[in-house]
Amino acid sequence: MKIFLKYPRNLLTKPILSSIILKTKLDINILQAKVADSVGEYTIEIDDKDKDKFVDAIRKEGVIAEELKDRINLEREKCIDCGACVSLCPVSALVMKNFEVGVEDEKCILCGRCINSCPFKALSIKKA
Ligand code: SF4
Ligand code: SF4
Repeated sequence: MKIFLKYPRNLLTKPILSSIILKTKLDINILQAKVADSVGEYTIEIDDKDKDKFVDAIRKEGVIAEELKDRINLEREKCIDCGACVSLCPVSALVMKNFEVGVEDEKCILCGRCINSCPFKALSIKKA
């Protein structure tokens, strides 16, 4: 499963994630990491069975941790299948098949890159 982490400004320089990985020996895959408006945002992937242990450990450090359930919504009536968004997706969640763009939800890490790229505003975040 994918988990979204939000670091407040005062924790940005602390090696919290690496310390937890070392201490717990959990197998964690970092899918994206960025700092925006002085807040750190990570998306990580972890085995379902390890989720509670990881979330408990990182919340104790003051980091907000939530399961990533929101997805990218593609409004078909607005999309002209130009393909501009497809190459921007870092995880190949946007695919062109038979000249039609589609979203493979399970791959999306909600990085948001595609949203601003669409000249027709056909992409948005769909709340779970
Ligand atoms: S938000 Fe858009 S660009 Fe980012 S992973 Fe999801 S589909 Fe791809
Ligand atoms: S950029 Fe917009 S219009 Fe073009 S394929 Fe993507 S969603 Fe459709």
